[in-house]
Amino acid sequence: MNRTLTALVALSLCVPAAANVPPPLDLAQRADLALASDNHAYAFIEGLTTEVGPRQAGTEAEARARAWAVEWLKQYGFENIAIEPFMMDTWVPGDIAHARVTGPFAQDLEVLPLGNSAATPVGGIEAEVVYFRNVDELRAAPDGSLKGKIAFISHAMSRTQDGSQYGFAGPARWVGAGIAASKGAVGAVIKSVGTDNHRNPHTGGTSFPDGITPIPAGALSLPDAANLERMFARAKGRPITLRLEMNPRQLGPKESGNVVGEIVGRNPSLPPVLLACHIDSWWNAPGAFDDAAGCGIIIAAARSVAESGRPLRTIRVLLAGAEEVGLFGSTAYSKAHLAEPIAVGIESDFGADRIWRFDSNFRETNPVLHKKIASAVARFGVSSGTDVAGGGADLNIVRDQKGALIDLQQDGTRYFDLHHTPDDTLDKIDIVQLRQNVAVWTQVVGILANEETAILTGTPIPAAPAIMQSN
Ligand code: ZN
Ligand code: ZN
Repeated sequence: MNRTLTALVALSLCVPAAANVPPPLDLAQRADLALASDNHAYAFIEGLTTEVGPRQAGTEAEARARAWAVEWLKQYGFENIAIEPFMMDTWVPGDIAHARVTGPFAQDLEVLPLGNSAATPVGGIEAEVVYFRNVDELRAAPDGSLKGKIAFISHAMSRTQDGSQYGFAGPARWVGAGIAASKGAVGAVIKSVGTDNHRNPHTGGTSFPDGITPIPAGALSLPDAANLERMFARAKGRPITLRLEMNPRQLGPKESGNVVGEIVGRNPSLPPVLLACHIDSWWNAPGAFDDAAGCGIIIAAARSVAESGRPLRTIRVLLAGAEEVGLFGSTAYSKAHLAEPIAVGIESDFGADRIWRFDSNFRETNPVLHKKIASAVARFGVSSGTDVAGGGADLNIVRDQKGALIDLQQDGTRYFDLHHTPDDTLDKIDIVQLRQNVAVWTQVVGILANEETAILTGTPIPAAPAIMQSN
């Protein structure tokens, strides 16, 4: 990056082309160039995973990630770069996580704590395990029936392209421990919400209902959970006992923060286009897929759009903090900026594999724009969907404003092989598919950022004087 983005934009807008300087590429050409050769998204993922690595929300590692991202945005010529701090209750995993079947088939199992898990006493807890094939079975268990027991909550999860299996299997993690605690359990272990066959537990957040004291809650790796299921098939009614020891802690309020930066539009009085990702990851995961990739994609796309000429509307990137542990960054951002209208929001947080479908929430209200975007991305193999886009986790502000949303649906077939595991590393990034993401985003964001009418409805918006910026 010898030249900053600002310089490139100024060049494209304000300097008469010299005879030997080719005209700037138009938007479609920029998108095609991204498809052929973009390395900026990959460089972001490589840099963040190498120089920072895992970045658990509320820790000094997440703070280093914010500082790293600020430098990156500066290098790329973004303007109005800021860290917007907020306080959040911070949970850390501790350094002890052991699970051992103590009878009748004694052996160790691979386990990691779930976010918000309580600690066991030193030395652990030992109790009989009660097996539930899924959360619905657990829900049906009588109140008090788990008193003094450890619940083991399983699920059946297979790969799907659209990620729908997460909604199906995810409740085992999201609410399983809380339900078990409310029925008297002293601990809970789940089959990891994942689709791989490595002995890597998939962590992730769990939650406990108000008034229910958190219990120790862990995720077993997929093969270890399958092993425990086989034990139940062979135990012939004999109790299976498990010793579980973990020492996660709640640290109380700690600082996290959102990172923002802008490509300032020709008319900054128009509502901006908001591109979102999250900068934090779980402590055990370098987070190349989740979500360094998303941040790399949106920044590369914003840069790419600007290189085809300064857009009409401002493009703002939001690298949200503390997403994994409860969407704290997204919530804080909406609270702080709710009164400032956003034109449209898009998030990237589903890895780095190819985009295969485009959905909006304005297909009915602004069919002209929906069709324009659909036809512009068709050449990248993206179909136009009929689902109503709901936006991603970091777009709370747009949902709170009841604004325009787009989902650029990525192929999630292998996402849950890696999700929240130590395997979520740089080598899993397929640069050909990553470039397709940047190309599609460039095309979509470029159209949106130059849209003169209200995006949700297509109705004209009051014209304000355009401001020529030539910094
Ligand atoms: Zn994520
Ligand atoms: Zn995640």
